[in-house]
Amino acid sequence: SRACHASAEPSVSARMKTFLLASLTLAVSAAAAEKIKVLIVDGQNNHDWKGTTPHLKKYLEATGLFEVDVATTPEKGDMSAFKPEFKKYKLVVSNYNGADWSKETQVAFEEFVRNGGAFVSVHAANNSFPNWPAYNQMIGLGGWGGRSEKSGPYVYWEEKAAKVIKDIAPGRGGSHGPQHEFFVETREPSHPIVAGLPVKWLHAKDELYDRLRGPAENLTVLATAFAPKEKSGTDRHEPMLMTTTFGKGRVFHTALGHAGGGKREAQQCVGFIVTFQRGAE
Ligand code: ZN
Repeated sequence: SRACHASAEPSVSARMKTFLLASLTLAVSAAAAEKIKVLIVDGQNNHDWKGTTPHLKKYLEATGLFEVDVATTPEKGDMSAFKPEFKKYKLVVSNYNGADWSKETQVAFEEFVRNGGAFVSVHAANNSFPNWPAYNQMIGLGGWGGRSEKSGPYVYWEEKAAKVIKDIAPGRGGSHGPQHEFFVETREPSHPIVAGLPVKWLHAKDELYDRLRGPAENLTVLATAFAPKEKSGTDRHEPMLMTTTFGKGRVFHTALGHAGGGKREAQQCVGFIVTFQRGAE
């Protein structure tokens, strides 16, 4: 935009314009050379990971910011061969909900994030690894897999007090009613992942995860959705978009994005796509 502005100024010589264009070309080349290296992990999920991973990859690459590889676990059985080189990447995105990784791979992933690697958890990735403490610290909140009050508090937005509540009441971690369209409401409007978006937007038909529980340390709830009783919900504003930190690593957690039965409309929603792209960035 600087080049465009300069070229509109009558005082700028043609030579200056050439210089600015050359600088711009260099800047673009430099940007292309410095794409953020991303690894999407998949291979097991009770959702259509084969159908969604190529699109998650495409959404990231469409920004021009990312260069994306995929690491796929065995579909069942021995997981010891799954040893991605996390260190080669700036960001790992999980589209994985399945068997425990080997201890070696868990340790490598913990070190990756603790040392400043970034992590994005998509939808049922927060169902994974109920018994891996560090992973649960990373995602902040999770569901299913036997999660209960032992996993940590429920977390929800209290509208009257306009604040996040952590509730240690006993009970299951993770549930959802029938899929439906619902509103996503921003709670941290100045946060870069949601800044400038409508403060309330209608999300495409999705599963509204509720009753998630976890350590919820260093957790920032960016956006919530109201889970109504008539849709088997909690009657509370449930966290949908979150960030956490783990060591020097930063985590973005989107509970949105159900896909299955040949449908992935929740991930085709522009609200899902934009917050996923920004969260990855
Ligand atoms: Zn789902």
